[in-house]
Amino acid sequence: MDPSFPKPQRRDRPGHFRRRARLRKRELARDQFKREQQRPDGTWLCHHCEKPILSWEEAVVDHFPFTKGARPDLLCDPTNFVISHTACNTSGNPNRKAFTRPQS
Ligand SMILES: [Zn+2]
Repeated sequence: MDPSFPKPQRRDRPGHFRRRARLRKRELARDQFKREQQRPDGTWLCHHCEKPILSWEEAVVDHFPFTKGARPDLLCDPTNFVISHTACNTSGNPNRKAFTRPQS
């Protein structure tokens, strides 16, 4: 019988609390950015289509111009955040602004 049977509870698996804390830190960074970007009338401006966003649920924080996969070190960095619609946050959306890689 496999020694890991029965399967341990999730909280007993290695790294569970560290992983949770990391995700919570990212969540708090996004929420803080969203509150900071809220305009006095309670709306946001979408970075991609430049139309107003009316509700908290519709406004999401997009990792732009660097994606989460390309720069995992910028996951909590507000300089790489933009506010966008939920719909504009998908890669195939025609409104999405193109990112031109800086020439170095
Ligand atoms: Zn939009």
